[in-house]
Amino acid sequence: MRRIAVLGSTGSIGTQTLEVIAANPDIFQAEVLSAHSNASLLIDQAKKFKPNAVIITDESKYAEVKSALTLFPIKVFAGNKALAEVVQWESVDVVLGAILGFAGLNSILAAINAGKHVALANKETLVVAGELVMALAMQKRAPILPVDSEHSAIFQCLLGERPDKVEKVILTASGGPFLGRKPNYLVNVKASHALLHPNWNMGAKISIDRSTLMNKGLEMIEAKWLFGLDNNQIDVIVHPQSVVHSMVQFRDGSVKAQMGLPDMRLPIQYAMGFPERIVNAYKRLDFKDFPKLTFEAPDYKTFRNLALAKEAMVRGGNAPCVLNAANEVVVQAFLNNKVGFLEMSDMIEKTLACVSFVKSPTLEDYIKSDAESRAYTAEFLKKSQLSIY
Ligand code: NDP
Ligand code: MG
Repeated sequence: MRRIAVLGSTGSIGTQTLEVIAANPDIFQAEVLSAHSNASLLIDQAKKFKPNAVIITDESKYAEVKSALTLFPIKVFAGNKALAEVVQWESVDVVLGAILGFAGLNSILAAINAGKHVALANKETLVVAGELVMALAMQKRAPILPVDSEHSAIFQCLLGERPDKVEKVILTASGGPFLGRKPNYLVNVKASHALLHPNWNMGAKISIDRSTLMNKGLEMIEAKWLFGLDNNQIDVIVHPQSVVHSMVQFRDGSVKAQMGLPDMRLPIQYAMGFPERIVNAYKRLDFKDFPKLTFEAPDYKTFRNLALAKEAMVRGGNAPCVLNAANEVVVQAFLNNKVGFLEMSDMIEKTLACVSFVKSPTLEDYIKSDAESRAYTAEFLKKSQLSIY
């Protein structure tokens, strides 16, 4: 029995994680659930899964959660400090990190510090501070199992292989809802268009990141740190059917791919259950349903976020942290119809040019760079809104 702390249990990955737990009551048990402000869903989940503890990080919602659960033997906490403490409990075996964005970093570092098995969905943690996170995980012997489908695929392809025989990894990208579109079309797209994603059902922020290809840029950086790759060992290929989840090319020219239907429950259960492969009855991939699997080069010129992420990866230091912070700010603004689709890249680029470069950042440097970047991007947003009127 593995006792799971589901961080971000009310989100897209969090709710799918609870589906996996519910389908495997002999293997998994929800020990801890956390949400930011969705008190009502957290309360429902707590009543159903009866965890040992729940944490609501938005402290203003504490009273609501506490009073709803008074008749249950469930501990209720509020705030980020409590989250970082609870993940270290003896009774937690696996920490499933599905909090969105930079906000997820602190609790993952706490889990690694306690040597927990970490199933990591929160890619921003590795984008921002991958070097530090992986060094700590090595030191504390905390296994990090990727939940991101591409990285789960690469992880599976690498099993049984020697790292020095890897030539490169090839991340597949669906291309998002605007595949093949050019700037004259993209200039007018709104968040509602970007949220229509063909193959995967996911949270709002990552849906926008998929539409701009920033998601793939973040995943390049995530892969770099997870698998200890050089920058030139990471390739991206557009594969709209999302059946090949990613590939590894070896030094003899052989390529291994991991495939399946696009269903996040698979990489979630693999990451939580590793090294076991857990039997399930989910729909199987039938190749006859996919008579054509296609592949094409990504359009770095139109989808500039992908190029910016690659540049930040090559630059290293705090550049990916700056890129991530600027992106989190512009994506939120885009969701609120406060910035145009193409303008998002301009603002990320300007932020990267403004924030001072730190070659070997400490955790404090990352926290500072994140805050500084958010302030710059917010300033650019304000100026661009003023110039409209
Ligand atoms: P959602 O927006 O659906 O869910 C985010 C979760 O994090 C919610 O539980 C939310 O709580 C919580 N949360 C948000 N902000 C904070 C905060 N400041 N402090 C603490 N908790 C917070 O996101 P997704 O599930 O789509 O994505 C989660 C992570 O997984 C992201 O890093 C994403 O990149 C990654 N990922 C997602 C995939 C997907 O298919 N969705 C695929 C691969 C990776 P509340 O509901 O209360 O706001
Ligand atoms: Mg992915």
